Amino acid sequence: MRFASLGSGSRGNSTLVSYAETMLMIDNGFSTKETVKRLARLGVEPEQITAILVTHEHADHATGVARFSSRYQTPVWASFGTAAMLKDVADIQCFNSHQTFEVEGIQVEPVPVPHDAKEPTQFVFTAAGCKFGIMTDAGSITTHMVGSLSDCNALLLECNYDHTMLMDGVYPESLKRRVSSDWGHLSNDQSIELLKQLDTKKFQYLALGHVSDKNNSHARVLDCVSQAIDCDRAWLQVVDQSLGLAWQTINLTEDSKENIHA
Ligand SMILES: [Zn+2]
Ligand SMILES: [Zn+2]
Repeated sequence: MRFASLGSGSRGNSTLVSYAETMLMIDNGFSTKETVKRLARLGVEPEQITAILVTHEHADHATGVARFSSRYQTPVWASFGTAAMLKDVADIQCFNSHQTFEVEGIQVEPVPVPHDAKEPTQFVFTAAGCKFGIMTDAGSITTHMVGSLSDCNALLLECNYDHTMLMDGVYPESLKRRVSSDWGHLSNDQSIELLKQLDTKKFQYLALGHVSDKNNSHARVLDCVSQAIDCDRAWLQVVDQSLGLAWQTINLTEDSKENIHA
């Protein structure tokens, strides 16, 4: 299984998860033209996308979904609540937020998250014994989130803001309250708190995403996460808003073999 990102941040998010011939696109917060350009960077033709899974209806995750899906006849999956908000998507299938389902050989476990959207979920993907989790757009950490992410081999985790930078920054008070609330976004400190509850030694990759360009910096994220989980700074990846993240291949290890039998 491998994953890549077209870009991550408040100006657009989209992640690819691929196994064998199946290529899932998680969210699309870009115009179709921009999406095609960014896919080409990763060596992917738009027709290769098997399905689009939408985490929630916020524009930075959903703005490009309807156009892309109608242009390339790509089926779309979303929770019932998210689907109700995506009225412009013609071909939409709903999943139960509490039930694992399969899309052409990839197991998809939706993980409900506290975020200010209708029925937001993030995802854990399993294929061939490898497990990859995406966890962004969550205002607080739940035991359910920790349980779902516990045996991942790779994780894309939100490090949205540095608390001090947000509080001292340019955002209006109402936006500061929204971002830092239990239904907002994960701060660097919250993400570290989550990582400390996971077995990060099992990780082949840790990618940090949805980094605010006003209330955080790549350097700050790399510094605090590498210190907290005691890893080499260079081993971590920050998913860039413009450049995204190149393909990362998750390999089957002795540890990840356990997932096959789980
Ligand atoms: Zn977002
Ligand atoms: Zn959101």
